[in-house]
Amino acid sequence: MKFDYWRYDLKLKHTFTISRSSRDVVPVVLVRFEKDGITAYGEASPNARYNENPDSVEAFFKKVDLDKLSDPFKLEYINDYLDSIAPHNASAKAAIDIVMHDWIGKRLGVPLYKFFGGEKEKAPVSTFTIGIDTPEVIVEKVKEAANYPVLKIKVGLPNDEEIIKAVRSVTNKPLRVDANEGWKSKEEALERINWLASQNVEFIEQPMPAAQIEDVRWLRERVRIPIVADEAVGSLYDMSTLATAYDGINIKLQKNGGLLKARKMIYAARANKMKIMLGCMIESSVGITAAAQISPLVDWNDLDGNVLISNDPFKGAVNEDGKIILNDEPGLGVAPLG
Ligand code: MG
Repeated sequence: MKFDYWRYDLKLKHTFTISRSSRDVVPVVLVRFEKDGITAYGEASPNARYNENPDSVEAFFKKVDLDKLSDPFKLEYINDYLDSIAPHNASAKAAIDIVMHDWIGKRLGVPLYKFFGGEKEKAPVSTFTIGIDTPEVIVEKVKEAANYPVLKIKVGLPNDEEIIKAVRSVTNKPLRVDANEGWKSKEEALERINWLASQNVEFIEQPMPAAQIEDVRWLRERVRIPIVADEAVGSLYDMSTLATAYDGINIKLQKNGGLLKARKMIYAARANKMKIMLGCMIESSVGITAAAQISPLVDWNDLDGNVLISNDPFKGAVNEDGKIILNDEPGLGVAPLG
């Protein structure tokens, strides 16, 4: 049995700007697990919003007792064990949960989407994300994304209207908008959302800071498009509280700790009558393909993290103009390139 990992810098095709940060390179930590002649892969894409970075991921891995991973089928036990090492560290835990799932699928000879009971043809179309930029660059990016039927637009800085107007100058396709906690007062958020609703925007993601749930509850009574929680979605146990303020949740493996936890959150959200969006960080095809395996189980997909990079070290599920195409290889169905 062997577990090893290495860092890899994902290079973005365009500088990626959201309300709190701007990035050209995203460092991830790829993992490999070998047992009984089966090699499996996983990935951590740590995000500073959740107090993680490649150092914290590696520090977490160093604390893992390999003996506890000796039977990957014990997913509940392994996830509980990872939580017992330290709270948070969701991307490090996701990497291990993903590599265990890949191993199980390969051992059983089944693609994971089948293991989860999904039908790959049923995956909703994925949005393509347009980061914050000048109106001129936004217009170019929207033209480049001409084949994607639905766009996700990042806002939350003072130039929101300018951005949406630039998008609308080239396309009428449906938009989903993500403010990444950018609006700090409920009055400002209300004004912006009402304007967005007039621009054929389907829903708004995380309009206000995660901690301001009272304000979001106030907003929800006053707007006519759904409000989706992203940064506010922590653990499984948040679901009933979130349901009092939000219409849906954005689940991300890297934010929520992997496939087992994501599946439990799907069921918890359904039980609370919330819609489910499946999102991602900037990730290679390892992390994106892992998420794609549960993509048939959700309402809205936003799995373009690997489309935004120019040096993907793996191949796996393919995003063809927003359509997520899973292969039928066992496990994740990913393979290193070169
Ligand atoms: Mg978001």
